[in-house]
Amino acid sequence: MDTIVMKFGGSSVADNIRLNIVAEKIIELYNKENNVVVVVSAQGKTTDNLIKEAGELSSRPSDREMDMLLSSGEQITIAKLSILLNRLGYKAISLTGWQAGILTNNTNQDAIIENINTDRINKELNDRKIVVVAGFQGINENTDITTLGRGGSDTTAVAIAAALKAKHCYIFSDVDGVYTTDPNKVTVAKKLESLSYKEMLDISSEGAKVLHNRCVEIAERYNIPIITKSTFNNKPGTVIDDRIEGSTVKSIVKNDDITFISAKCEKYTLELFDKIYRTLLENGIQVKNLINNSTYSLDLSFYIKSSMFNKFAYLLETDLSMLDCTYYNVTRISIIGHGIMNNNNILTDTLDIINNNKCEILSIDINEMKIAIILKNVIPNSVLEQLHSKLIK
Ligand code: ADP
Ligand code: ASP
Ligand code: MG
Repeated sequence: MDTIVMKFGGSSVADNIRLNIVAEKIIELYNKENNVVVVVSAQGKTTDNLIKEAGELSSRPSDREMDMLLSSGEQITIAKLSILLNRLGYKAISLTGWQAGILTNNTNQDAIIENINTDRINKELNDRKIVVVAGFQGINENTDITTLGRGGSDTTAVAIAAALKAKHCYIFSDVDGVYTTDPNKVTVAKKLESLSYKEMLDISSEGAKVLHNRCVEIAERYNIPIITKSTFNNKPGTVIDDRIEGSTVKSIVKNDDITFISAKCEKYTLELFDKIYRTLLENGIQVKNLINNSTYSLDLSFYIKSSMFNKFAYLLETDLSMLDCTYYNVTRISIIGHGIMNNNNILTDTLDIINNNKCEILSIDINEMKIAIILKNVIPNSVLEQLHSKLIK
């Protein structure tokens, strides 16, 4: 008997009608003699709403309490789905992250799964139960609840699939696969039949929401094929595995969730540099491309996720009050595919389009599989459309 993991995201479980569609999909695979573990997200916009409500109570809610709050969303979905499956005549059991044996490190709000003790899941599977696990959450060594970062239910699903040596992991969502660019930004985007783990990792890490980047890392490490499909139709999805096919542009990601920061301070010491870097890391603010532009004073420039800006602004009033900062939103365009560095036309065509649209370039980053360009200000989707029509064959 094969073991299969099926993950359903927030839009797939948003209401009772959709939960019924999800239940049908689960039952279909269960009836084909599979062991089925289901991982679900919070319903619809629940997580966003909980964050908003906490923000109305405090401008600086503690990370631990936020995890306690946010993990409640997934707990509602597992119970509702199990109640429905039971009513339909199937043995189902809901498990929170800790009941499912998911142990994480201590980084609240962005925890990493360190181990999964599969005893409980296996026991329930041996009883032929459908096991419904809350995504996005685990427990740390102090028995505190942790969450895995926004979109982290994908990672729960693939980590469980790896721990159970599952045949593959299905990720169901509102799109029927991974596209050549975000289909909600460019309507002519095309669905891809397959992608390598490496291509998918770049697509996710560059900010395409479709898969959480850590889930792709785990899938690659344990060689678990991921199949992304739509909950709402039966079209074939996109398979992500270790096969490398073609050397062309596979996908373009436009990420507008980035803030460029320029931070200055009269006095430059190594200790100060160290303090800034550590303070950002300790507060969960990941910094990209940190450059000191001067040898005599501190003149740093770097990028952070715009969604982290409130945390950063608080640090500017407290621990980092010595810094004089300016900042603005930017766009990062990433063009991804195996071997694209060897094709100069891709870079020249890209630069032509950027110049024709009078977008100002802040930096260009090129490696074997990716050209990433940061553009001053947030640029419209029409530029993405032009790049897509020129570069995707
Ligand atoms: P879920 O809530 O099911 O986890 P997400 O909203 O996290 O789903 O991810 C699906 C969304 O990812 C789509 O609605 C789409 O807008 C976005 N997306 C971004 N880039 C891509 C891409 N290249 N292919 C498919 N979807 C993408
Ligand atoms: N509910 C969480 C979020 O909205 C986790 C997830 O959806 O994967 O980020
Ligand atoms: Mg998601």
